[in-house]
Amino acid sequence: EWAERGAAKIIKDVVDPTTGELTKHVVKMGIKDFKFGEQLGDGSYSSVVLATARESGKKYAVKVLSKEYLIRQKKVKYVTVEKLALQKLNGTKGIIRLFFTFQDEASLYFLLEYAPHGDFLGLIKKYGSLNEICARYYASQIIDAVDSLHSIGIIHRDIKPENILLDKDMKVKLTDFGTAKILPEQPSNAADGKPCFDLYAKSKSFVGTAEYVSPELLNDSYTDSRCDIWAFGCILYQMLAGKPPFKAANEYLTFQKVMKIQYAFTAGFPQIVKDLVKKLLVRDPNDRLAIEQIKAHVFFDKINFEDGSVWDGDPPE
Ligand code: ATP
Repeated sequence: EWAERGAAKIIKDVVDPTTGELTKHVVKMGIKDFKFGEQLGDGSYSSVVLATARESGKKYAVKVLSKEYLIRQKKVKYVTVEKLALQKLNGTKGIIRLFFTFQDEASLYFLLEYAPHGDFLGLIKKYGSLNEICARYYASQIIDAVDSLHSIGIIHRDIKPENILLDKDMKVKLTDFGTAKILPEQPSNAADGKPCFDLYAKSKSFVGTAEYVSPELLNDSYTDSRCDIWAFGCILYQMLAGKPPFKAANEYLTFQKVMKIQYAFTAGFPQIVKDLVKKLLVRDPNDRLAIEQIKAHVFFDKINFEDGSVWDGDPPE
């Protein structure tokens, strides 16, 4: 059920050379239509390679997953979820686009939008830390992207700087939906007929990354959509401090710190961001700020989340 074996169909406009008439043709594209280039990254169960379409010269990132490895490691479910989530999110601001999926005997391929500026961890490392202006620019896009995915019933569950890519305009693109949770649609009474999801539905899956994992998953063995808000708080802290708030020599010690909410602000950490981080890195998810409250925080005073302008404009110097 992955995709038509070895091919994906695209609709192409073709001009008839005799009549000059424009017609739509279904064309099958396969891996042969792309020239593979440098390796862009390596995940725990995939490798990501730059690919150029032979016909258009357009660049893509191709995520290649070995079928044998996926089956052996019992990761097939992750790939199915990743594909479904990306398909549901296609065209959403701040989310990496999935164009096609292919397969051959050995591998599955995701043809993704290419993000040429690497990941957000690379950006933080390059500058050591970000100033308040840069932090506001990236944080506003990250939280708006998280808002969009929650509103269509998807919880990412592994938001971290490595999974935040930077596109050609240095805008945020969330990626790696392998451990996402796709919520079932609830009956809706809303007059606008908008789909409704239970964002507080408990999930017991132990997924995520030690430094960004929520305390409720460690203490009470459950999470819901608010684990993405916790991770956002950790990343906001990291932007200013240059390192994640909870970090220790190994995973066990990192978990201990998370469970005790044991972190400290670095010298010179801006007061306004401190206030927001303190309201995000809260033990009880019921006391953690919700997305609307985050957007209304004084740190985002000059950001208009309503008109989409958070995605306009150039990134700060
Ligand atoms: P993980 O170990 O985090 O589960 P994964 O196997 O799911 O990883 P990804 O996180 O999707 O793989 O990708 C691995 C790396 O490849 C990323 O950290 C990034 O550096 C690079 N990469 C992924 N997608 C793209 C893209 N669309 N454009 C540019 N680089 C990308």
